Amino acid sequence: MPTPLAHALAGTAVYLSASRGGGRSREDLMLFASAVVAACFADLDFGLNFLTGENYHHYFTHSVVFASFFTIGAYFFSRLRKRVAPGRDAWILGLAYLTHLLLDVFSKDTSAPYGLELWWPFSDAFTIAPFAVFDDIWRGTLPELLSLHNWLAVAREAVIVGAVVLVFWWSRRRQSG
Ligand SMILES: [Zn+2]
Repeated sequence: MPTPLAHALAGTAVYLSASRGGGRSREDLMLFASAVVAACFADLDFGLNFLTGENYHHYFTHSVVFASFFTIGAYFFSRLRKRVAPGRDAWILGLAYLTHLLLDVFSKDTSAPYGLELWWPFSDAFTIAPFAVFDDIWRGTLPELLSLHNWLAVAREAVIVGAVVLVFWWSRRRQSG
């Protein structure tokens, strides 16, 4: 699975592609920060592992239905905060959430069950792409965590998702300039 770096970059790409503001107002900055959080949100299931001692990673928070709940929640939260365009906020944040599932599906997974419980609660099956774009991250010990393997995996994420961010950043600059 990709690191939070890849997910945060994907959230940034969605924000750049979909928001219309110049990125300088408080409203816009809040939306940017929220898109980054939305893109990383699914991995909060690590917290459930920690609290319960059981494995919940890649289960229900990594499903399309949960992403839909998140999007509806974002809409009502935006309305509650009296933001200008709750509908637009919600679909930007929902899209950011979906990038998480997309990146994870295209990642190398070395521990069963492989992939994500993408279609929960309709199916308990785990979905994974037939090929991996992103490498796995070794997390067993500190030397593993700091291994060359992991640095290369992070570099790959930065190059691939960073390139998408650059494209959207550049096109937005052209539009506003
Ligand atoms: Zn994930």
